[in-house]
Amino acid sequence: GQCRVVCPTGALMIKKEIDRAYEALQNKNMRVIAQIAPAVRVAIGEEFGLEPGAISMGKIVAALRKLGFDNIFDTAVGADLTVIEEAEELMDRIQKKQNTMPLFSSCCPAWFKYAEQKHPELMENVSSCRSPQQMFGAVIKEQFKRQQKDDRQNVVVAIMPCTAKKHEAARPENSRNGIRDVDIVITTQELAIMIQENGIIFNELEEEALDMPFGFTSGAGVIFGVSGGVSEAVLRYYYKERTASTLKGISYSGIRGMEGVKEATVEIDGRQVRIGVVHGLKNAESLIKKIVNGQERFDFVEVMACPGGCIGGAGQPIPQNSDVRRKRAKGIYKADNESPIKRSEDNPAVTNLYEGILQSKREILHRHENHQN
Ligand code: SF4
Repeated sequence: GQCRVVCPTGALMIKKEIDRAYEALQNKNMRVIAQIAPAVRVAIGEEFGLEPGAISMGKIVAALRKLGFDNIFDTAVGADLTVIEEAEELMDRIQKKQNTMPLFSSCCPAWFKYAEQKHPELMENVSSCRSPQQMFGAVIKEQFKRQQKDDRQNVVVAIMPCTAKKHEAARPENSRNGIRDVDIVITTQELAIMIQENGIIFNELEEEALDMPFGFTSGAGVIFGVSGGVSEAVLRYYYKERTASTLKGISYSGIRGMEGVKEATVEIDGRQVRIGVVHGLKNAESLIKKIVNGQERFDFVEVMACPGGCIGGAGQPIPQNSDVRRKRAKGIYKADNESPIKRSEDNPAVTNLYEGILQSKREILHRHENHQN
């Protein structure tokens, strides 16, 4: 394997998670459900000789089926839920003219932990939204609890570009009644190891489709994998005009690209809304300083800890450099271009959820210190 974790406890934890995945896959009393994060599809191919940025979603689905997963879904659906919840939260704050602006994104667990430890005073500015991984894990468990006709235990395995996601899934507030919403987190590199260990020839796999009831992916959900994507997806939600030029206008507003700090001012309902996009915690820290001493004012700040966002996550294939990351980002935007659904609220899987289980359970999408229900 290609374990990049230096400390032995970290290495053990990784070993443990792959082993736990195998155990679940072999256990007939368990239904093993995968969710695949956006950034994984444009990077895993590198482990098998493909170019960075090649979109391998269909092959990942096929590989997971061969490994014995029962249901395979796209974390982009969780991202769509995050977009809608976060956009509503932001609009609410803007309309109430709360002086606790800006609202910070909350979906990157490395940033979240940093904010908790270094800036407890900012925590009320950090969105109450759970991350796509956690929202989707909770929704999957809830949906299967209602629809399943057997008594198998549902085990959610998240395939992530990220090592911090393992710690996030294990946090106490991410369990309900003692059961984790996401049971196991496997990184892109670890999935590649599993594929190799099982003798699956990745490049020869026929592409396969995601499963219902969540088998739809929006472009807005997929661009979460790259820095600026959360902001762009949220802006799509606000601009109700469904024209190609609206989408283009948003993409040119200044939130795309690989610079460490990006800023954009957009008009929403006659208001000037200021958006900041940073990747790298150092960049976040210097932006926070400017906000605190009044040099800068923002309504929304998106923070991702890794260079370029999740495409540059620590669980992604190596080597990583700016060229590789640029190509992966291109793959993400290509997947967006190719998606017939651009906006989170247009995803039928998402509409069904809001009309279904979320009608009475919307709170499972938000952070609560002690998640009990
Ligand atoms: Fe994980 Fe990095 Fe993405 Fe944050 S930016 S969620 S640490 S991969």
